[in-house]
Amino acid sequence: MSGKIIVLPDDLTNKIAAGEVIERPASILKELLENALDAGAKDITVELERGGCGSIRVTDDGEGIDREDAALAFCRFATSKIYQFDDIYKVQSFGFRGEALPSIASISRVEMVTRKRDALAGTRVIAEAGDIKEITETGCPAGTSVHVTNIFEPVPVRRKFLKSEHTEQGYCMDVISRLAISHTDLRLKVLAKGREVLNIPAARDARERLALVLGTDFLDQMLFLTAEKNGIRLHGFASQPGLTRANSRHIYCFVNRRFIRDHLINSAIMTAYRRLIEAKRYPAAVLLIDLPPHDVDVNVHPAKLEVRFRNPRDVYQMVVETLTGALAGSPLLSPPPEDGKLPRADFPAIRNYGKGVEEALKRYTLSSPSYSSERAGFRRPYFPQTTESQLFKESGGSGERPGLTFSDLSFLGQVGGVYLIFAAEDRMIIVDQHAAHERILFEKLKKKSADSDPSMMSQRLLMPEVISLPPRDFAFLMDCLPILEGCGFEIEPFGNDAVALKSVPSLVAKLEPKRMIMDFLEGFAVREVLALDEQREKIYAFLACKGAIKAQQDITSAEVKFLCRDLDSVPNASTCPHGRPVIVSFTFSDLEKMFKRR
Ligand code: ADP
Ligand code: MG
Repeated sequence: MSGKIIVLPDDLTNKIAAGEVIERPASILKELLENALDAGAKDITVELERGGCGSIRVTDDGEGIDREDAALAFCRFATSKIYQFDDIYKVQSFGFRGEALPSIASISRVEMVTRKRDALAGTRVIAEAGDIKEITETGCPAGTSVHVTNIFEPVPVRRKFLKSEHTEQGYCMDVISRLAISHTDLRLKVLAKGREVLNIPAARDARERLALVLGTDFLDQMLFLTAEKNGIRLHGFASQPGLTRANSRHIYCFVNRRFIRDHLINSAIMTAYRRLIEAKRYPAAVLLIDLPPHDVDVNVHPAKLEVRFRNPRDVYQMVVETLTGALAGSPLLSPPPEDGKLPRADFPAIRNYGKGVEEALKRYTLSSPSYSSERAGFRRPYFPQTTESQLFKESGGSGERPGLTFSDLSFLGQVGGVYLIFAAEDRMIIVDQHAAHERILFEKLKKKSADSDPSMMSQRLLMPEVISLPPRDFAFLMDCLPILEGCGFEIEPFGNDAVALKSVPSLVAKLEPKRMIMDFLEGFAVREVLALDEQREKIYAFLACKGAIKAQQDITSAEVKFLCRDLDSVPNASTCPHGRPVIVSFTFSDLEKMFKRR
């Protein structure tokens, strides 16, 4: 019997293609906006009805379309952007598959009005459920306006997957924000239900644009990034370690101005923040990566939300190095409380001050030029040269204060058994002695091992301590042996289920050795599979924590001096290896405001 296999008709294939590309109204908007940009638009207006579920109109001042091309634009695989396969690796445009307009038209009604600048008349094309209904001449401004209505009417089942109009509008606004960030020279206006919700002029640089779309609060807490290597350029902003978020939604990544989600880049970002922020917290970051089109394949995802790099290692390394460098030199921040909020005070009297303190803290962090690399006194060992670029200009850093170093602060005393109070010229500074010492020890351990310094100080026990262990723990300890030895441990297997501990790192020599090994194994109770360097850092963090001066432990002024000197010499001094803050500071003007002196 024959006749089982048929070639699907165009209207069906278009609907199938639309299923991949057009998930929701925001996907339509994304495609229309990208077409406008590909047409060289400098001014775009977006109109949304019912959060984009009712209708979407995108009007641009781009090059427009010829009358004869206007109908073709609605045919599948009809594009003006590539002519042969290899062109995919040269294209600078967002689109090239010729899929968007036919896909959109197959699941809605599209009315396109377009005119080339030098043409006398424009063209109106109406397409409904995949069929062109009308092509007529019309008077219209130069550029293109595409109005999409009856969205998903030909495929009612898709409507069921839509969320509330409010949520769908949120998705649309996400698309718009991303575009605004990566296209600073664009004028953008957005109307929703006839009301203007966004109207932004062309920005001078990305900084300005970021402030507009993400808010100045966000921006002023950010470190500026720039680097160039192996033909890859990286620009962007990343949050100080003190400012973290509960999810990774505030990480924006663009490759050749295309917003993408990339596992590799995300993991590079998290690697740079490891041991700087608390577990399960995320930084905010905007990374714009530019590289030659032939080094990146953009044709690997239906909505082009993922790309494939020719040299993924290079990209990974560059992100890690640039971020690590910028983060290393960001001490003496007033770590803003999580998500900008102070923990709630327990006493009503204090609660009243809470707001004031919160505002003061905010003001401090807003006015503090903490992202400037010029803060004298702090080494920024890996901080890349900040050069001006077309996209980014580092802000002038007005109100630069003379540099502050921990060693220059005058120590006033300890309170609460753990907080060291210091006076600086213009502020009061509070340091958590344990967190500070932890960071110092951690960085020292890291450095020594990095140099594989044979003198990693080690102290021999008078008598080897034999510790018998369950098989799981025994095997795990054997796994960690090379790292532990690098830190100054001398441990030998003793039979099949015990170890003989002969030496310990001098920094934990005061501790009861057996207890410490048990604590160590407990700390790794969840035997996560960790990358080697992650495991190494976790071990350093453990030792740093064990070796560091504790709360309720007295500290002499001489010791404070050493602590300050060490803090000045290590990177990442603003947080401990678990990501908690090392210092908090209040400017005198913050204090004045708190005391209502002005
Ligand atoms: P692609 O963008 O992949 O080429 P589309 O289906 O999105 O495919 O668009 C088809 C063609 O229609 C484009 O190649 C372009 O020539 C033209 N086009 C679409 N939108 C616009 C616009 N806003 N301005 C100018 N030309 C456009
Ligand atoms: Mg397109």
